Amino acid sequence: MVLFAGAGTGVAYMVRRIAILGSTGSIGTNALRVIEALGSGYSVFALSAHSSVELLAEQARRFKPKYVAITDADNQKRLAELLADLDVEILAGPESLVAIGELAEVDIVLTAVVGAAGLPAVLAAARRGKRLAIANKEPLVMAGELLVKEARASGGEILPVDSEHSAIFQAMQAGRPKEVAKIILTASGGPFREVAIDDIRNVTLAQALAHPVWDMGPKITVDSATMMNKAFEIIEARWLFDVPVEKIEVLIHPESIIHSLVEFVDASLIAQLGRPDMCLPIQYALTYPDRVAGIARAPRLEEIGKLTFKRPNPEVFRALPLAYEVARVGGAAAVVFNAANEAAVEEFLAGKIKFVNILELVEHCLNKHDVKTGVSLEELLEADAWARREVTSVACSA
Ligand code: NDP
Ligand code: MG
Repeated sequence: MVLFAGAGTGVAYMVRRIAILGSTGSIGTNALRVIEALGSGYSVFALSAHSSVELLAEQARRFKPKYVAITDADNQKRLAELLADLDVEILAGPESLVAIGELAEVDIVLTAVVGAAGLPAVLAAARRGKRLAIANKEPLVMAGELLVKEARASGGEILPVDSEHSAIFQAMQAGRPKEVAKIILTASGGPFREVAIDDIRNVTLAQALAHPVWDMGPKITVDSATMMNKAFEIIEARWLFDVPVEKIEVLIHPESIIHSLVEFVDASLIAQLGRPDMCLPIQYALTYPDRVAGIARAPRLEEIGKLTFKRPNPEVFRALPLAYEVARVGGAAAVVFNAANEAAVEEFLAGKIKFVNILELVEHCLNKHDVKTGVSLEELLEADAWARREVTSVACSA
C-alpha cells in the first residue's frame, strides 16, 4: 500500500493497488465498475485478458494501469499497436499472469480468469503474501489445501468474491470457528431446477445458457445448469473456512437474495442478504475490513415478498453427491473432477456433446483415474492433463 496526502487537506490516504486477472470477463468488468465508483483510495495497477484485445486496450486507456497482460500471445502485436501512445508495459503468454500476481507494488490480486488457467498465478500471489480476492474458484477446488497453506505461510489473505462465500465470510464474523454447526450454501438452482430427470436428457445449449437470475460468463453458466458450480462451491467452502464437507449443506433458493447462511451451535442461523449482483461481494473483498458506500443497492424485502427454499434432487444434479465423494477421497480426485468438467463443458459449448454427457464424462474420469492421497503439485497437474485428454478422446469416439 502507498500513502499519499490529499490535495491541500493534510490528510493521508491509503491507496490499494489492484491487479485484475481476467479484467475483460463478467467479474472483471464488474470489478472495474466497482473500483471506479470507490474512487481515489483504489488504483488499477495491472490488467489481463486472454484474447479480448480491443476491450483490454479500452480498459487500459481508461484505468491507466502500469502493466497489461495478454495470455494468448498471438494478440500481443495488435495490443501493442492499440496502446502505442500509452506508458504501459505489455506482457504476453500464459506465464504473464504469474508475473502480474508477483508484482511487488500490487496489494490486491483479484483473480477473475476462468478455469484451471488461473492456478499458477493464484499460487504465486499467495506465496508473495498478497490479498487474494478470489473469484476464480477452480484453483481452490483443485489445490485448496496447498493454496491456503501458502497464503498462511506468507501472511497473505484469501478473501472470497463468490457471492455465497462472501456471505459465509460475513456471517462467520458473528461467532468463532469452533462454534460453527453447519454452513448452508444457497443455490439459484439454474434453469433446470424444476426439470424432471427424463427431460434433462433433451435440453439444448441455448436453454443451458439462459440462467434465470445471474448474468455470468458461459462456463460458469453451464456449471450452474448442471449444479457443478454448487458442487465446486462445497469444496471451495471446505478450504476457505476449514469446515469438513459433512457440515456443508445445499439449499435451492430461487430468489437468490439470501446468499448463504451459517448455523452456530446455539441454533442461531446468520445470513447475508443482497440483490443478485456481484458488485457487493467484489467490493467487500477489496475494502474489507471496511464497509463503504458503493454501487450496490440493498434489496427491498417488501418488494420481494417471499423467500423460498427446497432441497436439490441429487439424482437430477449428480454433481452434488459427487462433490462430497470427491472431498472424502482427497488426493487428485478434485483435480480430475474439475478438469474433466472443464473439458466436457468446452465440448458442450462447441456443440460436440449433449448436456447430460457432461456429468457422464466427469463420472467416467473419476471412476477410471487412480487417485492417490498426498499428491504433489506436479502430480495434480498430470492428473489435470490426463482428465482433459480422456474427455476429448471419449467425446471424439462417441
Ligand atoms: P468470463 O468467461 O466472463 O471471463 C473470463 C476472463 O478470463 C476473461 O477476462 C477472459 O479473457 C479470461 N480468460 C479466458 N481464458 C483464459 C485463459 N486460458 N487464460 C487466462 N485468462 C483467460 O468468466 P466469469 O467472469 O463469469 O468468471 C470468472 C471466474 O469467476 C470463474 O472462475 C467463475 O467460476 C468465477 N465466478 C464468476 C461469477 C460471475 O458472476 N460471473 C460468480 C462467482 C464466481 P477474454 O475476455 O480475452 O477471453
Ligand atoms: Mg457462487
